[in-house]
Amino acid sequence: MLVALDGPAGAGKSSLARALQRRRGFRLVGTGSLYRAVAAMALEQGIALEDEPALASLARGLRFALVGEPGEERLEVDGRPEGAWLRGEMVASATSQVSALPEVRAALLATQRRLAREAAHAVLEGRDIGTVVLPDADLKVYVTADVGVRAQRRLAQGEDTQRSLAEIEAAIAERDLRDEGRAVAPLTRAADARLLDTSGLSEEEAIATLLAWVDEVMV
Ligand code: C5P
Repeated sequence: MLVALDGPAGAGKSSLARALQRRRGFRLVGTGSLYRAVAAMALEQGIALEDEPALASLARGLRFALVGEPGEERLEVDGRPEGAWLRGEMVASATSQVSALPEVRAALLATQRRLAREAAHAVLEGRDIGTVVLPDADLKVYVTADVGVRAQRRLAQGEDTQRSLAEIEAAIAERDLRDEGRAVAPLTRAADARLLDTSGLSEEEAIATLLAWVDEVMV
């Protein structure tokens, strides 16, 4: 079974995807990490964020693997475990530029599909999973929440200690606009995706909704 989870940053996709991984044994593919890895490596190597051929070539050359026991798998990029080097607002902002480039998206498409189909059950979390990466997914969910709620959550996660709530909210809104406005694979709800608005829901309530949908589709 393939589950597509799409939606803007901070809507709760990651915690939903993790719940499917831990409680239902799904393989979890956080596709944002692939784009983040390309952006982080580009920053490290001094590749300009507008240099599409160089960025695509970087993306094509990276080896992505999910390693570890099922249910506990972690992403490795060229043998380097996913971690703090992929997070932070510098990398997030660069990622949103890099991910707007068609050649970079094309370079990562086959990788995402391979990681999904290697497993019996997989959940892919991203922006264009239901629309582009897995248009035939068994269950598509578009997860969203008010921008103020999303900024609060980001602050509570403690990943963004340098900035005020208003600054975080502005950065999230800017990233949403860029993700929704890009020409290739924009952030948008697939016609056949179920809507899960987590604004007024606790984490456990949102998870319960998703698990009920998964059980319904799996039968
Ligand atoms: O989900 P995450 O915050 O890790 O994604 C980081 C960025 O990667 C997003 O803002 C978006 O620009 C890009 N992305 C994308 N397509 C995906 C997943 C992420 O363009 N499927």
